[in-house]
Amino acid sequence: MSEDKKPEWVDLENPEGFASSIKKGVEIAANHNQASKNRFVKKKGQEISIEDLKAGVLKGERAKLAKGITLVESNAAHHFELAQELLQTLLPYTGKSLRIGISGVPGAGKSTFIEAFGTYLCSLGKKVAVLAVDPSSSVNGGSILGDKTRMEELSRNPRAFIRPSPSEGTFGGVHRKTRETMLLCEAAGFDIILVETVGVGQSEAIVRSMVDFFMLLVLTGAGDELQGMKKGIMELVDGIVVNKADGDNLTPALRTKSEYSRILHFLQPITKGWMAKAYTCSSVTGKGIPELWEMLQEFSNTTELSGVFQDRRRMQSKEWFYSLIEGQLHQLFYKNNIVKQLLPILENQVMAGNKTITKAVQEVFHTFLDSVNTK
Ligand code: GDP
Repeated sequence: MSEDKKPEWVDLENPEGFASSIKKGVEIAANHNQASKNRFVKKKGQEISIEDLKAGVLKGERAKLAKGITLVESNAAHHFELAQELLQTLLPYTGKSLRIGISGVPGAGKSTFIEAFGTYLCSLGKKVAVLAVDPSSSVNGGSILGDKTRMEELSRNPRAFIRPSPSEGTFGGVHRKTRETMLLCEAAGFDIILVETVGVGQSEAIVRSMVDFFMLLVLTGAGDELQGMKKGIMELVDGIVVNKADGDNLTPALRTKSEYSRILHFLQPITKGWMAKAYTCSSVTGKGIPELWEMLQEFSNTTELSGVFQDRRRMQSKEWFYSLIEGQLHQLFYKNNIVKQLLPILENQVMAGNKTITKAVQEVFHTFLDSVNTK
């Protein structure tokens, strides 16, 4: 990050004085370890007090919230421990927000929409946190979501908090960091969490697994776009929003809305008892934004009443639990030195046809388990 855009918690003199900034993408993964170590250098000798952080987060102090998030995002092992301690004590205060995922191809208007929608929600007295899952940041060090000036108005709004996508790391990576950041934001009193992602691949499923409502922003011309859009993504959505329904684009947008509605009608709803529909809005004129909020409230009322909302949250926790276990097992196995030595040998034997695959797998597992047991 550049000098004038330090993480908020650094500004201990004036923690309430500014909203977060999202102008810059995250540092590349290779630098992240170093960067995360440096973040706490200033505080050397000074203990990070979990009690203090907890009290600050619960009071909604931005500086403390940002510091908590920095802990969660850090790849350093001792920060990880502290972050887990903090999250555990804050757990009873989490879960009270409406979590909304927003996806769409680059240029669909996600940032403009979040700016307009978030500002509208703030005007209703809501506190809005915007998080991001950026599939590109860990791959090439760049960021699709964070490398341009985005959501300037919302980032200045004292009721809003915007956090760029975290970088990859161990133990659940971006996925874990965003989920845990969401919990911290809830404990800090944010009642709407918007999780943004770019519709370019796996990240939709990741975001779907952490939100209550999943929204896809699309451009006009459903026919063209659908050609390139994986059907799988349509099956994940609770609603499709045809953005940029203004000016000359209004009529095509309305037509696109009907086309999407027709397609959605034939798909199995992802949320039991909720029929996904298409809507239009303009993030520039604001038309359609209040109606979208009404629809979201209806979604939340309907699903809470039927218990589907709570069931989904429980299932998400369960799936997350198992996915972290799998991640840990994967790490434990592939980082094991004996496994690392043995794998290429077995791989060669299998490829040369000298050993059956099952036998090779058994051999590596026996060796792995022996090495774990003798530790
Ligand atoms: P993102 O890549 O999905 O975040 O898309 P942006 O929010 O950056 O928007 C892409 C372009 O579409 C920008 O030039 C916006 O000004 C424009 N745009 C976004 N929403 C609207 C809208 O509702 N109406 C019009 N006319 N333009 C829009």
